[in-house]
Amino acid sequence: MAQQERKLAVVTGASTGIGLELARICAEDGYDLIIAADEPEIEDAAQELRGTGVNVTAIEADLASTEGVDQLLGVVAGRPIELLLANAGRGLGRAFLEQSFDDIMLVVNTNITGTIYLLHKVAADMQMRSAGKILITGSIAGTIPGSFQAVYNGTKAFLDSFSFALRNELKESGVTVTCLMPGATDTEFFERADMLDTKVGQDDKKADPADVAKTGYDALMKGEGSVIHGMGNKVQVAMGKLMSDTTKAEQHRKMAEPGSGDAKH
Ligand code: NAP
Repeated sequence: MAQQERKLAVVTGASTGIGLELARICAEDGYDLIIAADEPEIEDAAQELRGTGVNVTAIEADLASTEGVDQLLGVVAGRPIELLLANAGRGLGRAFLEQSFDDIMLVVNTNITGTIYLLHKVAADMQMRSAGKILITGSIAGTIPGSFQAVYNGTKAFLDSFSFALRNELKESGVTVTCLMPGATDTEFFERADMLDTKVGQDDKKADPADVAKTGYDALMKGEGSVIHGMGNKVQVAMGKLMSDTTKAEQHRKMAEPGSGDAKH
């Protein structure tokens, strides 16, 4: 018997963290899913999500490359995408001059190049159909010059800005673009970014990724422009608008400088 086809959601970076939680919500809401990440663990996520009864296809692809994004689009195979949750991203701690340039390019290419290439393809199709909703995972980091995470914060500033620009360009099209702006969230992000010896890396009050995903999903479904998760983060961003970039860069140093955490790793 043919499997029932539901509306389709595509979630990138869905193997762990915020992306996995976004995919869980989409599945619970009855969307078929195509989920993507760079490591084989994406199949474990797919197995779990299939338990909700929806169809789930997992694709292991490096979304930092246009070839990887093309692989994902090949799996979509022209099926209309109702929801695109462009969430894949990675951080990179330590001083800019101590980072390897390969690591730097991986951050830029994952967070920016791969994301806008995917959006360029999918949003064009949505515009043609006059339907579709896009969630881009930006960050409150995009509002702060990120000493000891300089490139990452720069990529998120790009996405926070880009999201509103694309939203404006598509405002008459029936397609909405929403930017999810989390603050520090309890995922594998800080370990992967080599930030476990920092104050922010060791912060035990990070947000629950399930709550962050719910905030993002609700804003996506309402077609809102952006949403900051959590009152503390909202206050931080509002206060940041009154501060100089020099002050904000100094504050970021205090939480992201290697060794700024108490515990030893
Ligand atoms: P996470 O648990 O490390 O998840 C990152 C996801 O992105 C994983 O599924 C990872 O898959 C995928 N990914 C990374 N590079 C990829 C690549 N080149 N190709 C394909 N997939 C790739 O971290 P997270 O916190 O949930 O991060 C999700 C998003 O939230 C990111 O955009 C991040 O910048 C943003 N964010 C996080 C925080 C935070 O404090 N955690 C705050 C604000 C914004 P693989 O393991 O297979 O590579």
